[in-house]
Amino acid sequence: MSFEDLKLHPTILKSIAEAGYTAPTPIQEQAIPEAIAGHDLMASAQTGTGKTAAFILPALQKLTEPSPVHSRGPRILVLTPTRELANQVNEAAWKYGKGLRVKTVCILGGMPYPLQNKLLSQPVDILVATPGRLIDHLERGRIDFSRLEMLVLDEADRMLDMGFIDDVERIAAATPATRQTLLFSATLDGAIGNLGQRLLKSPKRISITAAKARHENIEQRLMYVDDMAHKNRLLDHLLRDVDLNQALVFTATKRDADSLADSLSAQGHAAAALHGDMNQRERNRTLVNLRRGNVRVLVATDVAARGIDVPGITHVINFDLPKFAEDYVHRIGRTGRAGATGIAVSFASNRDAGSLRSIERFTGQTIQPHSIEGMEPKFKPRPATAGRGTGAPRGNGGPRGTGGPRSAAPRHHAPDSRHGFPRDERGGQRREGQSHNRFGNDARPRSAGEVNGNRAPAPFSANRRPQGTSFSLGRGHNSGNRR
Ligand code: AMP
Repeated sequence: MSFEDLKLHPTILKSIAEAGYTAPTPIQEQAIPEAIAGHDLMASAQTGTGKTAAFILPALQKLTEPSPVHSRGPRILVLTPTRELANQVNEAAWKYGKGLRVKTVCILGGMPYPLQNKLLSQPVDILVATPGRLIDHLERGRIDFSRLEMLVLDEADRMLDMGFIDDVERIAAATPATRQTLLFSATLDGAIGNLGQRLLKSPKRISITAAKARHENIEQRLMYVDDMAHKNRLLDHLLRDVDLNQALVFTATKRDADSLADSLSAQGHAAAALHGDMNQRERNRTLVNLRRGNVRVLVATDVAARGIDVPGITHVINFDLPKFAEDYVHRIGRTGRAGATGIAVSFASNRDAGSLRSIERFTGQTIQPHSIEGMEPKFKPRPATAGRGTGAPRGNGGPRGTGGPRSAAPRHHAPDSRHGFPRDERGGQRREGQSHNRFGNDARPRSAGEVNGNRAPAPFSANRRPQGTSFSLGRGHNSGNRR
């Protein structure tokens, strides 16, 4: 199938050709005709599959016709969980819609209100927003949704996870009932299914299991580590690999991201940190430096790195394993962008068996152990599990269940109110916490609350979503505010 077959407007086709795309991706092939036909959509497609164009292109197609309603308000509204993702959608709208002279506005937390008020007082075609700040403007009567034709919920699962469900529903309620609604999410079960039932009208369901969605273009490697010093040595070795163009290194906490970036800089790497304690200007500057290649190693936390789309990233390194298995998928999806291949390396101590099991169960893939000659772990790693598509590699990683799922750690509560805790988009406080500096030259032992370079056993709730369990058991105050 070609883009011409999708019956897109010639001006849009021209922008697509300029972007260098030769054929639609599977999600685009399936979603665009349904969206152009006016259907509501529930699409499960992960980042890296081309999902942004799958909703922006039909949105632009709508804008090729004049609005029947005379107003200045947005005709398309895209809600995203994070500022980074919103910026990316904004860029995509600009890239694909530049020939149409589309007016796009981005309304994000952490930005000054007066500028946003001014932007909202002018005619807007596409409004891209994070829910919290949009609600603020809505409550102040600054948004006119009278001509809104399409509502897009991008990464809806993440918005639920982050406690934006009430905001999303209030925003949807403020838009015309005649609107078309497109929902994109990593999964469509459980709470997302319920949300879909409330907000969508007879939606078409699309599920993408393309090679790209399964990350077959990304080689996943597991490296066992003995302790922090071993981790640091391995990281330095990996970063000196000539095949590594740019790397994204994930740490569990903001403080660790800063410390590790400092320590890598001291070792001569062009490194920088990216996390939610940085203001938007600092984050943007760091991302620009990454895009320009001035930064070769970006050390980041999950929330801050979500949505990064930099083709030069050849390696993702999980210095700390993610607390939630779905974050693993989002992390490794930062490499292998736009048809390239990538390498994702995960460090795991002998106490991370539970976390690894959860990740492998979630992805349905086994991560093959790797070691570097002369830097092998002292403990005996689990045997390679080649050929096993799914399942739980048992390994010898300590007693079963240690640090694993459903440990004695308390379940956390749903983020239930928009005032319950500081939002990510309002200063980046939530979900990213602080820890002591553990990257000093002496690599001192971790505190009792941490295990071999990773945080102490915590609820590793990877099983929630694949099993369709309720989001009310999702991330919340307890674990969330540490990341
Ligand atoms: P997304 O899943 O929307 O984050 O997109 C992932 C990457 O794929 C982005 O870098 C897009 O620019 C790129 N992309 C989107 N559609 C296509 C296409 N049809 N052909 C090639 N690359 C694409």
